[in-house]
Amino acid sequence: MTAYTPMIQQYLTIKADYQDAFLFFRLGDFYEMFFEDATEASQELEITLTSRDGGGKERIPMCGVPYHSSAGYIERLIEKGHKVAICEQTEDPKQAKGVVRREVVQLITPGTVMEGKGVQEKENNFLVSLTVFPASFGFAMTDLTTGENGVAWIGSIEEAINEIYTLGARELVVASDFSESDLSKIKERCPVAVSIEDNDEQDEMVEKLSGHLEETDLKKAFSRLYQYVSRTQKRSLDHLQKVTLYELNRFLKMDYFSKRNLELTETIRSKGKKGSLLWLLDETKTAMGGRLIKQWIDRPLISKQEIEKRSRLVQTFIDHYFEREELRELLKEVYDLERLSGRVAFGNVNARDLIQLKKSLEKIPGILNLVASLNYEYSSQMVTSIDPCSDLLTLLDAALIENPPLSIKDGNMMKDGYNERLDQYRNASRNGKTWIAELEAKEREITGIRSLKIGYNRIFGYYIEVTRANLANLEDGRYERKQTLANAERYITPELKEKETLILEAEEKMVELEYQLFTELRERVKGFIPRLQSLAKCVSELDVLQCFAAVSEKRRYTKPEFTDSSLIIKDGRHPVVEKVMNSQEYVPNDCVMDDKNGMLLITGPNMSGKSTYMRQVALTSILAQIGCFVPAEEARLPIFDQIFTRIGAADDLISGQSTFMVEMLEAKNAIVNATQKSLILFDEIGRGTSTYDGIALAQAIIEYIHENIGAKTLFSTHYHELTVLAEELSSLKNVHVRAVEKNGKVVFLHKIADGAADKSYGIHVAELAELPEALIQRAQKILHGFENQPKGQADTKGDKQISEVNDEQLSFFEEKASKRDKELNPKEKQIVDRLRKLSVLEMTPLEAMNQLYELQKKLK
Ligand code: ADP
Repeated sequence: MTAYTPMIQQYLTIKADYQDAFLFFRLGDFYEMFFEDATEASQELEITLTSRDGGGKERIPMCGVPYHSSAGYIERLIEKGHKVAICEQTEDPKQAKGVVRREVVQLITPGTVMEGKGVQEKENNFLVSLTVFPASFGFAMTDLTTGENGVAWIGSIEEAINEIYTLGARELVVASDFSESDLSKIKERCPVAVSIEDNDEQDEMVEKLSGHLEETDLKKAFSRLYQYVSRTQKRSLDHLQKVTLYELNRFLKMDYFSKRNLELTETIRSKGKKGSLLWLLDETKTAMGGRLIKQWIDRPLISKQEIEKRSRLVQTFIDHYFEREELRELLKEVYDLERLSGRVAFGNVNARDLIQLKKSLEKIPGILNLVASLNYEYSSQMVTSIDPCSDLLTLLDAALIENPPLSIKDGNMMKDGYNERLDQYRNASRNGKTWIAELEAKEREITGIRSLKIGYNRIFGYYIEVTRANLANLEDGRYERKQTLANAERYITPELKEKETLILEAEEKMVELEYQLFTELRERVKGFIPRLQSLAKCVSELDVLQCFAAVSEKRRYTKPEFTDSSLIIKDGRHPVVEKVMNSQEYVPNDCVMDDKNGMLLITGPNMSGKSTYMRQVALTSILAQIGCFVPAEEARLPIFDQIFTRIGAADDLISGQSTFMVEMLEAKNAIVNATQKSLILFDEIGRGTSTYDGIALAQAIIEYIHENIGAKTLFSTHYHELTVLAEELSSLKNVHVRAVEKNGKVVFLHKIADGAADKSYGIHVAELAELPEALIQRAQKILHGFENQPKGQADTKGDKQISEVNDEQLSFFEEKASKRDKELNPKEKQIVDRLRKLSVLEMTPLEAMNQLYELQKKLK
């Protein structure tokens, strides 16, 4: 075995417990890394890799970062999904016998970071855990930065993926025997760091936080998460809030695909907020409001009462413009109370943070008055439920000056009058000289010695000097001799002694005492954490609701009404497209889906606005169910229990699944889970496979939903063959997006009208794409030929097979074609030949475009 030096042995022993983390090993002013950690970190952080002798045969790879600038490096590793174990020297190197004792004091992971770039103001940083029980998963989550905790029952791994995705969790805690295949399914969709925790002991703290939950298994699920946090963070977790039980069936359910497709909180392409519904809606003024609005968008409600409680306040805010503006101004000054509470508990706040807290609390009475003045039925209930924490405000106001320094170790934070001793120190240092002069005058008066003086020297400190001639005037016992000079004596009195101590130690003591007073103050603030957290909750709700009002007013949204089943939207708009394109150009559309017509089959040319129309219906419902107003002239909506979408051809390259497979998975999700109260959006289902397959599947899906589910469904298709289904299926109605030809060119009107589209305008789109004129003319001729043929053996009865290719069409094609070929030159003939052989009906639009592009290139 290699004989490593004792320090390297110590390193290896500690590293053994932190295999999956970079071990930052404190050596003097540096954090050093060794072995593989060093090689990997030097690459990740772009720092120099060196080596050192560690006692073994070979030199050990090593790299390091200075302690003082380590935060940035740690942040970068965490950003990349790594973990970092901070290992400190835990004894004074001077006192140490042998190797200095070292211990890991904190494990920083993507789910437990408290500060830095990874922690966005308006985003939560959730850490989640999954615990396996016989029938389901126990799901637990926590956000260490805000102290929020939650648990839920989760039925399947797919549901777990939805939750992890919705929360945007960056780390997942599981037991060591958690299924590998389930883990890889999760990791396919969500980029989480995985951590292992086998301890699920329900200790005192777990009991305190989750004791109110009735189900022991859920407590267990929470324990695992708590034990992980407690083991890795090794510090006070006093800000953790009582665990909330999330009953997922209290919310509108949307699966991973639907949330992504509807671009609720991020866009599919850029994965950024810009262009999403959240981007449109978020005009919150506080960071807490910013986080809450995202949570609300991710979890729309299904209880009419709860929805209306929100939307009525939105209405009230719209009716009270001035109050709303004032509220917005006040909210701007309210600091992030939740994150602040977290940092108080962790012990990382400074005096400036507490001043921000004070300034925030100063705004609360104004906010309360404002709420009280609103004509809203829950106003007084809200006012009484909001605790303004005025005692904390008084405390902070008495303790801290307005502009304290950033550091808590340099003094100058506390107000005069807050602490008697501190005042004395300050007085001593500020007024040392005056004090001495005052004492000198007093002593002269008492003794009647006019020549008495108070002096100072470095060896003896302060003294009272009296000439020999006057010694008799000194009161016995009051003066203690300190030094004898040729013609004078120097004395000290208890009073002077006290002042001397005060003056000399004042500076040093003052700073020490301020630090102590500040930490005591911070401890006292800790006691207010639960109250601050509930205040934060009220403030953030007000913030989100005023924001709904502001957006609704600015964008002319209306208050939706709720029905038992039918959906009627008059002049609806897609909220985000409308914002992006300038509202004057946006063409509003109606949508009616009642019991008679619960399914719409939408036809129309590509690019005419079919998917925009479908999304606008879903987004309108989501807006309504989060309590906001909706982009329409009038909206009467059912309350949906679930929304499913299959929209667009967003390739799922990350998970390596084909577009068509994803299409089918999304369809399955809807078909298996939807109920009569659900909304389904299917855009061009069956497009990713050959024509026959595609039509067959599309038809079967429509029939299945119609017969077995009865969910409100919007189904867009470019297969005109499907439109005959409306004759058979009583709830299916044809609508189309209108387009007209002007001077032989297609003009999209983006207007939805009843009935099926008259044609598909594919050639017009090819024309827009500027394919050669000759080719377009040829295509028009061919199409004309198809259209003049007797219809295919469309049989809408029996097994409802609706599309078959008519062989005659092909023979017609060949006959006409051969006649024309004679007029062509050999190159053109070759191209026409290729064109003739194309199985157009078997191709996807993209393949067709590619072929056309090739042919065009040849012709040029
Ligand atoms: P399709 O699904 O039919 O291919 P899209 O819904 O993707 O078409 O719409 C194509 C483009 O048309 C959109 O990007 C948008 O710019 C525009 N558009 C869609 N609906 C409207 C509308 N109602 N008013 C104005 N422009 C619209």
